[in-house]
Amino acid sequence: MAATLSQPAPGRLRVQRGDEVREFDLGELVLSPRLGRLSRQLRLPDGGQLEIADSPLLDAWLPAPSRVEAIADWLERRRSMMLGAAAVLVAGVVGFFQVGLPWMANQLAPVIPPAMERSISRQALALLDNTHLRPSQLPAARRDELRTKFHALARGLPRADGLRLDFRDAPSLGPNAFALPDGQVVMTDQLVSLVLDDDELMAVLAHEAGHHEHRHGMRRGLESSAAVVVIGFLFGDLSGTGSLSVSIPTLLINSGFSRRHEREADEFAFALLPRHGISPEAFARVMARLSGDEGHSPAGPIGYLSTHPPSDERIEAARRAAEKE
Ligand SMILES: [Zn+2]
Repeated sequence: MAATLSQPAPGRLRVQRGDEVREFDLGELVLSPRLGRLSRQLRLPDGGQLEIADSPLLDAWLPAPSRVEAIADWLERRRSMMLGAAAVLVAGVVGFFQVGLPWMANQLAPVIPPAMERSISRQALALLDNTHLRPSQLPAARRDELRTKFHALARGLPRADGLRLDFRDAPSLGPNAFALPDGQVVMTDQLVSLVLDDDELMAVLAHEAGHHEHRHGMRRGLESSAAVVVIGFLFGDLSGTGSLSVSIPTLLINSGFSRRHEREADEFAFALLPRHGISPEAFARVMARLSGDEGHSPAGPIGYLSTHPPSDERIEAARRAAEKE
């Protein structure tokens, strides 16, 4: 019900609501400060509250705190609440990137159609072929020999069907190997030249097969793409997202595997190799050889290819696995 305010005498305020008329001392009343276009609240001594349209008369009758004081007071009372809300928001965003995105990618990767995997992989490899890779210089017979050994190694794996091995000359990248989401594994001529025996190459390929079995490539690509979209929304700039089918190959190349993915692929290799009479020691040897390979900077412009950092930790893990045999 609407009420009418009036001033019957200095220091008094009359509130008339229908037939009901009440009078108050101004000292008993509290008027909320003027804040933007919010309507103002007049608190009555009995706890009642009137919502009133703003009017210059109010300032004349009821001197309110100055605007600056009012806002400072408002902020003061809400500061802890706002800090709390900001902390919850930050924790939520961090948690989303660390847990939510990997979880989503994990759920989504297995249902990506093979045709899309192939298309993404083809585009990623085409990008690399245009920039860092050249046709392999290895004799065809040598390539076939390694393919035969690789297929023997992969036989019986749940996703063995998709796996195939290809070679590229990569003087600017040096010894390296990587697996694309559709199961194509690419090994550089420089890696073939670096090793002492084929067991070391099979150790690297077993690790790549591990990435394929765990769908690490597609999971990583999906995570990165979703992150680009989310960051775009957070910062209001979606120009970087473009069409995802175009950006996933680029993101694949530019974002490395996580340490967890590397460890999973290593463990997969340590379990697979002994089943083919190869000790995980071969993995330790090739890792040590890669870390001792001078003249090739491991961190080049291509994250995807620099994502197998030969580290003492991984060599140690391989030696421990070898001792258990
Ligand atoms: Zn890897």
